[in-house]
Amino acid sequence: MALIVKKFGGSSVATTEKIMAVAGRILADKGPDDKVVVVVSAMGDTTDDLIKLAKAVTDKPYGREMDMLLATGEQVSIALLAMAFASLGQPAVSLTGFQAGIATTGAFNKGKIRAVKAERVLAELDAGKIVVVAGFQGMTAGGDITTLGRGGSDTTAVALAGAMNAAVCEIFTDVDGVYSADPRVVKAARRMREITYNEMLEMARLGAVVMQPRAVEMGKHYGVPIHVRSTFTRESGTIIREAYTVEEKEFTVRGVTHDANVAKVAILGVPDRPGIAFKVFSALAQANIDVDMIVQSIRNADKNINDIVFTIAQPDLPLAKQIIEKVGSDMGVLGVTVDENVAKVSVVGAGMYGSPGIAAAMFGALADAGVNIEVISTSEISISCLVQADKVKEAVAAIHARFFPDNANGG
Ligand code: ADP
Ligand code: ASP
Ligand code: MG
Repeated sequence: MALIVKKFGGSSVATTEKIMAVAGRILADKGPDDKVVVVVSAMGDTTDDLIKLAKAVTDKPYGREMDMLLATGEQVSIALLAMAFASLGQPAVSLTGFQAGIATTGAFNKGKIRAVKAERVLAELDAGKIVVVAGFQGMTAGGDITTLGRGGSDTTAVALAGAMNAAVCEIFTDVDGVYSADPRVVKAARRMREITYNEMLEMARLGAVVMQPRAVEMGKHYGVPIHVRSTFTRESGTIIREAYTVEEKEFTVRGVTHDANVAKVAILGVPDRPGIAFKVFSALAQANIDVDMIVQSIRNADKNINDIVFTIAQPDLPLAKQIIEKVGSDMGVLGVTVDENVAKVSVVGAGMYGSPGIAAAMFGALADAGVNIEVISTSEISISCLVQADKVKEAVAAIHARFFPDNANGG
């Protein structure tokens, strides 16, 4: 007997036929005493469609009502999947995030799971049912629905698995594992048999949307292995865990990621005195806006003014622009510019710390591909470059070819 949490993403449940197929596969794989919790996302592009609806009626598509709207997507798929199980003779029950005990912080659109009270889920499992839980949503202490950010169903699944001490959290999706680059962009990308939480977390943070970063953090926190695999094939997939257990070919760089969901903000002519950066970034932090690459450079040493350039996620741009224009005018800056036509390309690998050649090789690959680098940032296990958005695919391919040269046939 095992307790297993399985999560199916939007493309896995995009149609009623696919929902029936998911129900059938879960039953085929279920041992007689297994207890199965299934977390599902909204069908297909439902979340994108809901965002479009909101944008048609407001230029502020965020906040409480946005979450009220977005959470409906997952409610459709849980009900349909529970009905599909019933039609196959399997008792099942659907639960919203709240009913499943997912307690969240009050940050609308970016809620974080602060606790999982799994009593109801456990009771339904004990009653012999498959429990189908709405991903991506939870409820605040004050009774408001919050969503967990794009890709948040991954986090619901891993949090439930951790809280219930499940043997494994299986993430079923439209690719058959984690690859050394997005396999839709780099045909030669290789599938990994295993990847550590730390490397997967960095890849996810830097744009590998196959896992939401928070989900990987949760997995690491609880020590739950996460198994990324295909909904549509029976390939073995990729296990995300603390340390490697099988010998893989030594790659200093594990993956190349890209993120086109980036915007660049530049504040020009900022006074060069203590407290200025604090003012700018605390205003953004108060609005829950995550800032990523930050560069300050001297604009004019005689006049004691600098430029500050940073990147944020594109959906945060309208609010960030409003905040920065206000802070900027209070400080008397020369101007604020924004650019959405940028993207970030990164290399990730725990082994690259202390390997100075990696940065040079990455920049060399970009130079040879004729891609200009606008901003560079580094962490212990990654290097990122901001490039023009229309160059990003070329950039990923060129960097991948540099680090995985003999891997044209996959792994
Ligand atoms: P789901 O709807 O199942 O949650 P997502 O679209 O969120 O699926 O995530 C799966 C997608 O992640 C894949 O279709 C793939 O294009 C993309 N992806 C990006 N980087 C990677 C990577 N390194 N390995 C595998 N998939 C990746
Ligand atoms: N439906 C949500 C989204 O599209 C959550 C998820 O799919 O994980 O982002
Ligand atoms: Mg996803």
